[in-house]
Amino acid sequence: MSETATVLNSSAPAISDDRARDIVARFFGISGSVLRLTSERDRNFRIKADDGREYVLKFANSAEPVAVTRLQTDALLHMEKVAPDLPVPRIIPTRDGASELHLDLADGSSVVRLLTFLEGEPLHKVPRISAQRRNIARCLGRLDWALRGAPHPLPGHELQWDIKNALKLRAHAGAIPDAARRRRVEGILDDFEAFVAPRLSSLRSQVIHNDFNPHNILMAPNDLTQVSGILDFGDMVETPLVIELAVACSYQVSAGSHPLATIAEFASAYHAVNPLEPAELEVLFDLIRARLVTTVVVTGWRAARYPENRDYILRNNPPAWAALDQLDSIGREEARDYLVKACAMKGSAMKRDMTMVNAFVPGNAALSEHEASLIERRQRLLGPAYRLFYARPVEIVRGEGVWLYDASGNALLDVYNNVASVGHCHPHVVKALSRQAAILSTNTRYLHETVLDYAEKLLGYFPAELRHVMFTCTGSESNDLAMRLARAKTGGTGFIVTECAYHGTTSAVAGLSPSLGVNVDLGEHVRVVPAPNRYRLGTADVAEAFRASVQSAIDDLRRHGIKPAALIVDSIFSSDGVLPEPAGLLHGAVGAIRAAGGLFIADEVQPGFGRTGSHMWGFQRHGVTPDMVSLGKPMGNGYPVAGLVMRPDVVEDFGRKARYFNTFGGNTVASAVALAVLEVIETEGLQENALKVGDYFRQNLDQLAQRHAALGDVRSAGLFLGVEIVKDRATRIADPERTAEIVNGLRENNVLISATGPAANVLKIRPPLTFSKENADFFVERLDRVLAALPS
Ligand code: PMP
Repeated sequence: MSETATVLNSSAPAISDDRARDIVARFFGISGSVLRLTSERDRNFRIKADDGREYVLKFANSAEPVAVTRLQTDALLHMEKVAPDLPVPRIIPTRDGASELHLDLADGSSVVRLLTFLEGEPLHKVPRISAQRRNIARCLGRLDWALRGAPHPLPGHELQWDIKNALKLRAHAGAIPDAARRRRVEGILDDFEAFVAPRLSSLRSQVIHNDFNPHNILMAPNDLTQVSGILDFGDMVETPLVIELAVACSYQVSAGSHPLATIAEFASAYHAVNPLEPAELEVLFDLIRARLVTTVVVTGWRAARYPENRDYILRNNPPAWAALDQLDSIGREEARDYLVKACAMKGSAMKRDMTMVNAFVPGNAALSEHEASLIERRQRLLGPAYRLFYARPVEIVRGEGVWLYDASGNALLDVYNNVASVGHCHPHVVKALSRQAAILSTNTRYLHETVLDYAEKLLGYFPAELRHVMFTCTGSESNDLAMRLARAKTGGTGFIVTECAYHGTTSAVAGLSPSLGVNVDLGEHVRVVPAPNRYRLGTADVAEAFRASVQSAIDDLRRHGIKPAALIVDSIFSSDGVLPEPAGLLHGAVGAIRAAGGLFIADEVQPGFGRTGSHMWGFQRHGVTPDMVSLGKPMGNGYPVAGLVMRPDVVEDFGRKARYFNTFGGNTVASAVALAVLEVIETEGLQENALKVGDYFRQNLDQLAQRHAALGDVRSAGLFLGVEIVKDRATRIADPERTAEIVNGLRENNVLISATGPAANVLKIRPPLTFSKENADFFVERLDRVLAALPS
C-alpha cells in the first residue's frame, strides 16, 4: 500500500494492564489505576493517578519509524510553546526529563509517551449544532496557525491517510464488493487525477493534524459548543494545508438547505481565522470527496484483515458513503462558487490581487480617460509584473515634506513612506545631490573622501563591534551580500526567515521572502518560522515562542543534513504585520542561532535610521548586536543608496578570497546624499521627533480604537505603527476586506497608507520622520471619518 503499510498491517503492541501500570510507576513516578483504550494501531491506556490526575499512556506501534513519533512529540512540544491555550494534550516528561521513552517489548521496540488526559465528550456522541460547528472550525484554524512553525516531517515520510496520495488507492478500489460503489470510487479518483493532482504542487504546504474526525474532538461537558480537547496527532503530515480543512469537512456533511450548507459554514468559520486562498477553494470539494473515498477504501481493506477490530475500524464507513451520496448531487463548479460565496471571497476579496496587498485590480474602480490610458501604456511598455497601489491609482507629480501633490494639484498626506524619510525633496539633501552631481559622479575604485566621511559617520551609530560597511544600491543587494558572507563565514547554507518576511528581489533573497506568495519558490535551504505576533499568540510568552520556533527550524535543518548559516529578520517584522512588541523579544532566538553556529542578520531596511524613535536601529530595541545589518530605503531619502554593516571577522575570509565591486554602490553622489540625510536626521532631531510624535499618534489611535470596534490592536515603535482590523474583537478574526476599504477610503480622503500582514488586515502607518502632531491629528480625523462611513 505504501511505506507505512507496515504500520497499518501490524497490530498494536501487546501490553498487559499490569505492565502498563509498572511502566508509569517506574519511568514517570506516577502510581494509579489503568484502563485500556481502543486505538487502530497503537496501544493506549488511560491512567488515573492516586492524586486524581489523569493521563494517557501511549505505546506506539513497533513498525512506526522512531523519527515519525519524534516529530509528533516535537509538534506537541512546539504547540505548548506557541499556543498554550489550545486544548491539545501536553507531554509529561519521564523522571529523567525525557519526552519519549524507548522500550524493547516482546513484539518489537516501541516509543512510549505519557500525555495529559483531556476531559470532554467526543463529538460523535453529542448533538450537532451550528455554533458548535463554527467553534470547531475556528479551533482547527488556530491549530493550523500554531502548527505552521512545527518541525517538518522527514522527506519520504508517506502516509496513506494523506489524501494527496489518493491515487494509490486505485490498487485497492477493486476490493469493493458492490460494483456500482466501486465505479463511483473509480470515477472520483479519475476526477482527482485530472483536476486536483496537477494543482497540488502549487498549494501552500505545512504540517497538519490530518484527522479532525468526531472521535478526535472533545466538547466541553458544560458547554457542548466549545472544544475542550483535540486528540490523536498520529496522522500528522506535511502536505497542502487545505487538506486539513477537507478532512475536517468530510465529517461535516449534514442534510441542510444545500448539499454543502454545513461544509460551507465550517469552511467560512475556518477561513475567518486562518484565511484560505482562492486556489485552495478551487480544490476543496474534490479533496473532500477524495477523503471520503480514502475512508471507505482504507477502512474496508483494513477491516477485512483485522476482523477482531472491525467495528472500530469501520466506525466512519457508513457516514462516509452517505456523505458521498449527498455530494454526488452537485458539480465541481457549483460547489466552488457556493464555497467562495460562503467565505465572502466574492466581490472585492475575490478580485484582490493575491500577489500584493492593496494592489490596483483592473475593473474595481471607475477611471478617468487619462488614468486608463496611462495604465494601458504601463501595461504595454512595462509588462505584466508591475503593480500599482490603490483601487483608484494615484498619479503624483510633486512632493514636499510630508505632502504629495497629484496631477490636479490636490495635496495628499503621505503616511506611507520610509524612503523619503526626512521628507520629500528635502532641500539640504537635494542641494548635496545636485552639487556633487555637478562635480563628479564615479565609483569606489578611485580614492575619494566623501565615501569615507560617510562610512565614518554611519559606523558611529553602530555598536563598536560593527566596524565595516560595504555599499550597495538596494536593500535586496545588501541582503544578497549578507547571504554570501554568512555562507562564507559559517560554512553553512541554511537560512531561517519569518513566515511573511520580505527581504528583496534578487533570486537569492526572493527565496528568503515567503510574502511573495506560493508561486515564488523559497530557497531549498530556507526554513520559515511564525513571526512573534503577541496579539495572535494571546497569553503566550512571545519571545520564548519565537526562540522555540527558531530552535525547531535549526533542528529541522540539521535533520536534513543542512548546516545553519543565519537567521535573518526585519527587526520590526513589517511585512509580518508590524510587530514591535515586546522589546527584547529577539534575545532567545539570536542565542539559538549562534549556539548552532549561525549568524544573526538584522534587516534594517524598514525600521532603520531613527524611525523607531527610542533608537537609531530596530535591533537595538531588542538588546541584541547582530553580526550583520542590512540598510536600504531611508538611507538616501529617495536616491538609491544601501549598505551592509558587519563585524570585521565576518568578511575577513571572504575579502581574502573574493573581491566586491558594485558599480553604483557608494558612488560619489550616493555618498554625498547619504551624508546629507544623516545630517538632517541629526540637525532636525528626527529620531526624537519620531519618538514624540509617534507616542502622540499612538495615543490618539488608541482613543479612536475605543470608539471603533474594528480596530482590534494598535501597536507601534516611534513612527512605525500598525493597526489590526478585525471582524470581532473577542475572536480577533482578521478582516482584510474592511482593511482594503479603509485604505482606499483614506486614499479618497487624501491620505496615503497601505496594509500588510499575512491576512492583509494590518494598516501600515509609516510617515516621513518630519511628521508633526498636526499631521497625526489630520490622519486620525480622516480615519475616523472613513470608519464612520463604512457599514457596520
Ligand atoms: N528588506 C526589507 C525588510 C524590505 O522591506 C525591503 C523593501 N521593501 C527590502 C529588504 C528590499 O529593498 P529594495 O527594494 O531596496 O531592494
